[in-house]
Amino acid sequence: MDQRTTVHSLPTAPREFGFWMDGAWHGGRDLFERRSPGHGVPVTRIPKCTPADLNAAVAAARRAFEDRSWAGLSGAERAGVLLRTAEILRRRRDEIAYWEVLENGKPISQARGEIDHCIACFEVGAGAARLLHGDSFNSLGDGLFGMVLREPVGVVGLITPWNFPFLILCERVPFILASGCTMVVKPSEVTSATTLILGEILAEAGLPKGAYNVVTGSGRSIGQALTEHPDVDMLSFTGSTAVGRSVVHAAADTNFKKLGLELGGKNPIVVFADADLEDAADGAAFGISFNTGQCCVSSSRLIVDARVADELETILSAKMKKIVVGDPLDEATQVGAITTDAQNQTILSYIEKGKAEGARVLTGGGAMSLGKGSYIEPTLFSGVTRKMAIATDEIFGPVLSSFRFETAEQAIQLANDTVYGLAASVWSKNIDTALAAARRIRAGRMWVNCIMAGGPEMPLGGFKQSGWGREAGTYGVEEYTQVKSVHIELGKRSHWIK
Ligand code: NAP
Repeated sequence: MDQRTTVHSLPTAPREFGFWMDGAWHGGRDLFERRSPGHGVPVTRIPKCTPADLNAAVAAARRAFEDRSWAGLSGAERAGVLLRTAEILRRRRDEIAYWEVLENGKPISQARGEIDHCIACFEVGAGAARLLHGDSFNSLGDGLFGMVLREPVGVVGLITPWNFPFLILCERVPFILASGCTMVVKPSEVTSATTLILGEILAEAGLPKGAYNVVTGSGRSIGQALTEHPDVDMLSFTGSTAVGRSVVHAAADTNFKKLGLELGGKNPIVVFADADLEDAADGAAFGISFNTGQCCVSSSRLIVDARVADELETILSAKMKKIVVGDPLDEATQVGAITTDAQNQTILSYIEKGKAEGARVLTGGGAMSLGKGSYIEPTLFSGVTRKMAIATDEIFGPVLSSFRFETAEQAIQLANDTVYGLAASVWSKNIDTALAAARRIRAGRMWVNCIMAGGPEMPLGGFKQSGWGREAGTYGVEEYTQVKSVHIELGKRSHWIK
């Protein structure tokens, strides 16, 4: 069968989930019904957990941490569980991708690619579990020896957003587990299914009970309670900068839990005159349209040398017009549905603001009607100036704002002209130009002549208001540890009291 013409079918009835705690499903709660953003039909029913459920989940994670059933294993044993998880994910890849599409609205082919990335995360996490180590100081004189131990932080709370529910989860869970920590996860209420399914998979892979727990419900109730929980040692939050700020306050007002924050972005894509413009245009079209632009690392500000700006915008508009927007369950679809009604309204209102503020629509510029679900045309604005809302705000949709520069210095200034610092991309065939820009742009992830490339070996995270700390790779594992200095005196003590 020609894969490109296959449209997968919708479930006949919504799938009902329990929440996952202490190695088992728990039901009997009020349920939140999620409708598929691409089709408007009910697809899942998810428990609304109570504060008592949260306390029980944190207690399970605490017990699993303190009894050493996970932290007490060797790195090799922890790696074994993570590698078995990768194997099971490989087997269940299409099923997980399907639920991801139904709740999120992303295209099915993209969702499968994301699960492949998640498998890689578990494999890299397994390697990191074996390689995690401390340090020693043999430089303190013959009478003293110093060791630095890396110890797991303890119980981690993990809060994830709806745009990449499984991918963002898997960029964190293997590394949290590699460190020896246990956890309680709170996914977005609208995209909880795959986070719950991972509980069952980790159990099959041999993870001890209580090491991975999932509480479901809204951010304002159960998410907020997790950030305030006094028995959570660290909180890893991925989401908006606004909620990130409230997480910092919650930690300060309770137990000073350690924080990891991965927040918003307004990411530049800087194109110099000597770039391959066809490549740069393709990168820009992909960078703003991937996941309908609901992507923290979307390249949402095109900063282009004025000498080639008209040419680049022409090539880019033509490419953006060709993007296949459609049913997320259709194999041919490149851009699916907007995930929530609220986000749909936000994106459309920014498009209207851009028009009202005088920017010129080169392509797109509105909603698309497919008869059901919420879809928006990939949109390119030209003639954007620094103070416009579409220049400064994270829109989190397929809306690209184009700026022009005359000198390399102006390009760097424009790229850094944002409160965020999550990611950036630079296009030039001159290594001096590209590397100088890569060094000076303040962002946690840089791409040169590419965009959104890389794997879970490389750290992710933001500068400025895009967050604190790093996830993935060995840097990511280390975030979930703390270091302890151990001082060992050798030989006879030199006495204080003579
Ligand atoms: P959000 O509203 O901040 O929500 C993120 C998560 O926090 C969800 O699980 C949400 O639960 C929960 N939450 C909401 N209010 C909360 C509160 N008061 N206390 C604790 N938790 C709370 O963000 P979003 O709209 O889902 O996601 C979009 C944002 O995430 C964008 O700004 C994007 O840039 C950012 N993001 C960043 C990265 C990164 O790696 N830097 C990756 C992806 C997304 P409910 O959804 O159930 O309310």
